[in-house]
Amino acid sequence: MPNVNPNPSDRKMKMPILVVGVVVLVAGVGTWGYLYSMNIHHTIQLGGLGLAVLGAIIAVGGAMMKTVSVGGTTGTGQFACAKCGSKFGSESALNQHTKDKHGM
Ligand SMILES: [Zn+2]
Repeated sequence: MPNVNPNPSDRKMKMPILVVGVVVLVAGVGTWGYLYSMNIHHTIQLGGLGLAVLGAIIAVGGAMMKTVSVGGTTGTGQFACAKCGSKFGSESALNQHTKDKHGM
C-alpha cells in the first residue's frame, strides 16, 4: 500500500476493507477471465464481472471511508485534547482524559 497511516489503530480498522475489496476485485477479474477463456455461457461470465465490480466498489468505499476518517480528525488520525493538546488513539480515551484532567 502506498499510503502509510501513522496511527496503528486506524490502520487496523480501515485497511481490511480496502484489502477485502482488492481481493474480491482480483478474484472477480480472475473468475471472469477464466470463464471467458473456457468459453462458458455469457450470463455466467457476467457473474464473474459482477464480482469484480463489487470488489471495486468495496475497495473505493474503503478508501473513501479512510479519507473521511482522516479528514474528520486532526489530520493525523488521532484525537487531540482541545485544552492541552494531548493526543489519544480513540474518542473514548480523549473523553476520559477531558473528564479527569479538565473536569468537563
Ligand atoms: Zn487535556
